[in-house]
Amino acid sequence: MIRIDDIIEKFTEHHPDGDPTLIQKAYVFASMMHEYQKRKSGLPYIVHPLNVAYTIAEIRLDEESIVAALLHDVVEDTETPIDKIEELFGKEVALLVDGLTKLSALENLEKSERQAANFKKLLIAMAEDPRVLIIKLADRLDNMRTLEFMKEHKQKTIAEETLDIYAPLAHAIGMGKIKGELENLSFKYIAPDEYKSLSEKVEERKTKYEPYVDEIYNTLKEEMLKNGINCIIQKRFKHVYSIYKKMKQRNITLDEVYDFLAFRIILKNNDPNECYKVIGILHGLWVYVAHRWRDFISQPKKNGYQSLHTTLIYGEGLHFEVQVRTEEMHRIAEEGLAAHWQYKQGKLSALEDSRIYQLLSKTIVELQENSSSSRFINDMKMGLKDISNDIMVLTPRGKTITLPHQSTPVDFAYAIHTEVGHKCVRAKVDGKIVPLDTELKDGNLVEIHTLPSATPSRDWLKFVKTNRAKNRIRAWFRNFEKERNLSRGKELLEKALRKHKIPFSDVDIEKINKEIKSHPITKIDDLYILIGGNAISLRKVLGIIKPSLAAKKKAAIKRGNSKDSDFEKKVRIKGIDHIYVTRARCCNPIYGDDIIGYLTKVKGVSIHRVDCENLKQTRIDPARFIDVEWVETEKMSFTVDLNILTEDVKGILTKLTDVFDKMNLDLRKVIGETHKAKQQAIFRFIVQVDSRQQLDNLIVKLKSIKGVLSVWRKK
Ligand code: MN
Repeated sequence: MIRIDDIIEKFTEHHPDGDPTLIQKAYVFASMMHEYQKRKSGLPYIVHPLNVAYTIAEIRLDEESIVAALLHDVVEDTETPIDKIEELFGKEVALLVDGLTKLSALENLEKSERQAANFKKLLIAMAEDPRVLIIKLADRLDNMRTLEFMKEHKQKTIAEETLDIYAPLAHAIGMGKIKGELENLSFKYIAPDEYKSLSEKVEERKTKYEPYVDEIYNTLKEEMLKNGINCIIQKRFKHVYSIYKKMKQRNITLDEVYDFLAFRIILKNNDPNECYKVIGILHGLWVYVAHRWRDFISQPKKNGYQSLHTTLIYGEGLHFEVQVRTEEMHRIAEEGLAAHWQYKQGKLSALEDSRIYQLLSKTIVELQENSSSSRFINDMKMGLKDISNDIMVLTPRGKTITLPHQSTPVDFAYAIHTEVGHKCVRAKVDGKIVPLDTELKDGNLVEIHTLPSATPSRDWLKFVKTNRAKNRIRAWFRNFEKERNLSRGKELLEKALRKHKIPFSDVDIEKINKEIKSHPITKIDDLYILIGGNAISLRKVLGIIKPSLAAKKKAAIKRGNSKDSDFEKKVRIKGIDHIYVTRARCCNPIYGDDIIGYLTKVKGVSIHRVDCENLKQTRIDPARFIDVEWVETEKMSFTVDLNILTEDVKGILTKLTDVFDKMNLDLRKVIGETHKAKQQAIFRFIVQVDSRQQLDNLIVKLKSIKGVLSVWRKK
């Protein structure tokens, strides 16, 4: 069991000039506050903060961090107010503890909401001071180590959260050691059976390896000594979870996991060149697997990890890996951000040039910006996944842009500037024009072409990877809708006022607001937006402005038939409500036709048939296409313009109209014309149908009449 003396000893070992008084004081205070509390294990509560503080002392964090670690549960789990912490331990410690304390005012919220809100709070605190995250990870580590004392269903939930969020966070800030242990412990509780059977196999293999491990170890030691390399040699077996992941990902057996056994040669001399020298020695000793040789020194991993890896073959085919790195690299590999902290010795400002930290806080800020609570955790998980796999691409001017794995030119465009994103129409990758949803690869040179008139497409949401791009596109559409509704509502109301000769001064916002309970209306623009978005009817508004109109209007509506004004109720734009839609005159789509929306400059979204000729014109901007779908409403009715070419025979018109009669179709207009020379007649029927199906049916029937040469729907 960890005692406070162990912590102080570690602290003074790493900070010979440090003063442990405050640590001692924090220990006494925390012990007092947690005095009557017990952990689920039955041990006194203080054991937990002591363990957390020890982990923090081990990775050489400063005095304030150790103090905060000792106090991290005091505010949350005892009656102590945060002010008391500030009074006794200073502002810096209080800020750290506050960042680690869950929000107390959330009891009424759903569990997932509460979780998201708490997590958000943690991340904000972390963005301000990364030590919060490091302490939180140490806290989670101890909770995972003692998870066996929790109830089974809780074990699973906590383990899943650890694997989804905390292990990736640890990875993102390069804390490899904690990450490995968190993953392995999570795996044990999430998939106990798989963990057990794989552990057994791993143990078996370890036993088999044992005699060779010592032989290899001794050889390494001798050779290093002989070559004057001052180093530490560690041996390590891969964690069960890492083995499991590798086997799953690559679809390989345990025997094919070549880094199952690894040795680490950690050079006391902080000279990277000596690492290469060691590799040379190793390759002279054993056969090495050429394609598994990795140089992470000249090309560090995104989280700062540096090392040389090589896989060697011992005797009859025993594969093992050797990792060669300097002491400094080793600390970064194990402690990541915490190691940077130590080297910089400064506070936040000094840390900001750590690339991984920048990346992480940028992601967090983006996540905070626009995502709702419920989406937040998911976005966060995605964000974390992205961080570990991101790619670097180049702008034409040679600037590098870091993007998540599988990002597209649209993500790139939004990363450059929001306006570049909104107006992007075309992309070139390595000099070639590519579709906007092309997956970018590390090192690509990306060039974006923009058009001042271009606007984003809803389709982009299906393939963009960055939250930034997603949020900007969504925001654009929200804004677009609002503006569109505003100008449409304004136009509609003004037109109606003119028509009924009502002076604008009769529009009494207060009165309207009182009568319309469904929405607050405080200014004229609110009213426009509601009218334009069909959230309230113009008729209702007019009725309020001039009550005598209400009765008259009602009668008129009853008589009304299906016109374009109803059309918009029949079509839904995927993902958007209340947007102005019109039926394109060029192709007059009807229910059942394959349709597509086109965002016009002034008339909202116009609905076309997908095969409409007008859409093939060059002035059409593909970025303006929008997915739309039909909505089935009670009374469907569409006007269709039908052309029928027939032989010029007697009685043909009667035969044609008979079909319409039998199908009970409402004929609006019939025009006929004969070509005496050709002995043909052409008729134009304007008819009301309820769907594409009915129309197709009608056409089949018409075509079956003797003398009918062809029937087509006018485009
Ligand atoms: Mn805790």
